[in-house]
Amino acid sequence: MGKVLIIGAGGVATVAAHKVAQNKDVFTEIKIASRTKSKCDALAEVLNKKYGTNVTTARVDADSVEELVALMSEYKPDIVMNLALPYQDLTIMDACLATGCNYMDTANYEPKDEAHFEYSWQWAYRERFEQAGLTAILGCGFDPGVTSVYTAYAAKHHFDEMHYLDIVDCNAGNHHKAFATNFNPEINIREITQKGLYYENGKYIETEPMEIHQPLNYPNIGPKESYLLHHEEIESLVINFPTIKRARFWMTFGQQYLTYLDVIQNIGMSRIDEICYKAPKADGTGDEVVKIVPLQFLKAVLPNPQELGENYEGETSIGCRIRGIRGGEEHTYYVYNNCSHQAAYEETGMQGVSYTTGVPAMIGAKLFLKGIWKKAGVHNVEEFDPDPFMQELNEQGLPWHEIHDGDLEL
Ligand code: NDP
Repeated sequence: MGKVLIIGAGGVATVAAHKVAQNKDVFTEIKIASRTKSKCDALAEVLNKKYGTNVTTARVDADSVEELVALMSEYKPDIVMNLALPYQDLTIMDACLATGCNYMDTANYEPKDEAHFEYSWQWAYRERFEQAGLTAILGCGFDPGVTSVYTAYAAKHHFDEMHYLDIVDCNAGNHHKAFATNFNPEINIREITQKGLYYENGKYIETEPMEIHQPLNYPNIGPKESYLLHHEEIESLVINFPTIKRARFWMTFGQQYLTYLDVIQNIGMSRIDEICYKAPKADGTGDEVVKIVPLQFLKAVLPNPQELGENYEGETSIGCRIRGIRGGEEHTYYVYNNCSHQAAYEETGMQGVSYTTGVPAMIGAKLFLKGIWKKAGVHNVEEFDPDPFMQELNEQGLPWHEIHDGDLEL
């Protein structure tokens, strides 16, 4: 049915590649390209052995539009799945426009030198994608992604008007490391050390980092302290569902994690500016002054999120808690998925956080190739029909559950 180019060979890309290979009736040709080709080759070998596919690979620096254009002009994919880092969103979108390829990603653009994410940079491409007749699907992981589709599904089937939306993200897993992040450490630490932000009555309200928190009960897990964070899907959801009066995002953190994070910040290791460092030359002929970014250096010494899977116990629980009106009466609705780290590891070799992101990425690309999620322009996932996506979630390993008129706690 279609050719896919996966860019990136990290945790999320590995899961997405497994899922793409499991759906080879739709993904008839698969290429994986990333900065380090040996990682793509190792992944392709596993997939070809396990699923009988013929996955090919390439090296590409996705910061270079020129390199991307050369690769895409030669391979001619129907859709490019951007599973590299948010820094590469715009270069990959530029290359898609230059070569007539459709685009999808799981995280919105972030400049390298500023820990700041918002959709304006990517929404600025709307007209160009529309005029080229190309589809760009933004934010097709779990959050954003599934949480945005859950919200669209709630609006379509359960409410006349949604008023209060709380997205709740719990990781109750234990990887037995003193400190590790569940996805790219640089992106993760940039995200959670920012100020909190939520939407209320047409305005955004800023909080200090981790200032607002409370215990919330997660199904099959129990109470976990949950912290209000700024998260990107809030920005598009309040525009696409304008009856929402308040929208917030909550994520759980353990006390040990927060203590480590505090230390990392206080000793300057979360800095994203360049510092000069006197390092011994590789050939042993003295020292040289090199520039390093402390957070990138920290990433190099922290556990690799891709290697957490083997000893990871427990599960994630992510969902939407919504209050609104139906038939003139107030109702509540909670829709969520719980995902076991061990089950994710057994299927794909990766832990649950990569799994919950990679599976929806594959589903978005699959619905595009089937012509169901195909719409010229740049769109957040909640702008597409949620029903086929919800059906695929049940079939592809992320089944969802509903609680009607329960206590939302929020
Ligand atoms: P990883 O760090 O594991 O993987 C990133 C991959 O991108 C690596 O293979 C890396 O190559 C490659 N890469 C980085 N820079 C370039 C470049 N310039 N050119 C080519 N390839 C490059 O990250 P994750 O898999 O954990 O995360 C991937 C994406 O998923 C991120 O954007 C993250 O924000 C997003 N995400 C979204 C979530 C959601 O729910 N929506 C949740 C979790 C993650 P190399 O191996 O050489 O470093």
